[in-house]
Amino acid sequence: MPHPFDEVGDGIFRRRYEVLDQNIGIVLGEEAVAVIDTRSIPSHADEIAADLRRLTALPVGWVVNTHWHWDHVLGNSSFAAAEFWGHQRCREVMLEEPEAIKAAAHRWLGDAAAELDGIDLVAPGKVFTRDAVLDLGGRKVELAYRGKGHTDADVTVRIGDVLFAGDLLEEGAPPAYGDSYPQQWPDTIAEHLSYAPRLVVPGHGDVMEPNAVATQVVELRDVARRCAAAASEADLDFQGAPYPTDVIKLAFARSVTEQDLP
Ligand SMILES: [Zn+2]
Repeated sequence: MPHPFDEVGDGIFRRRYEVLDQNIGIVLGEEAVAVIDTRSIPSHADEIAADLRRLTALPVGWVVNTHWHWDHVLGNSSFAAAEFWGHQRCREVMLEEPEAIKAAAHRWLGDAAAELDGIDLVAPGKVFTRDAVLDLGGRKVELAYRGKGHTDADVTVRIGDVLFAGDLLEEGAPPAYGDSYPQQWPDTIAEHLSYAPRLVVPGHGDVMEPNAVATQVVELRDVARRCAAAASEADLDFQGAPYPTDVIKLAFARSVTEQDLP
């Protein structure tokens, strides 16, 4: 049976899983592979492992968590032998609020999240605050944090001219503002994009070429401007907004307290 991944660069793969329309990244190393994000529950992660066995006989040496959201980290326990990497804040939130992260999975997945009962969260043991490099044997995987955006712990993963952006970018659905920093987000993602990747794999949706990425940065700036210009929610200008009204309202709610948020 052929493997289900798309090759987005030399030895760089992603599978776009139907659940949550989510992207999981794979980077082949010399003796082991790196996995970018682990999905929402152990059985989802086990599906990644089964897919991987059709791609390569190499073991999983590294897991990178792009941020602490439930749908990116709750499959970690299925890759227990790997080295786990993430931003320092990703580790902190996972250690401080494991039940809140699981509760989010329950809200979204319902009964399927029962798999998580009794499972201890596996937080990244290898953390950094700005840059880290994984040596996969002959190839470098560059991890970067450039400020707050979708959350307070968003990490991108760069392999040559391919960038895995986590949920800093999202294709096919509006960006998720629930834990975001709307005023800082556009500058943060612009920093990550400063080296002009050929192809970006967002956390959810289709791969993005530079023009689609540029459009999304313009939209994030547009939303930030609307939020900054409004004194109250009733004051928000929705005319010609890039996203639905409830998305802009959520961005505004985050934006007004952004400077006071931890
Ligand atoms: Zn997220």
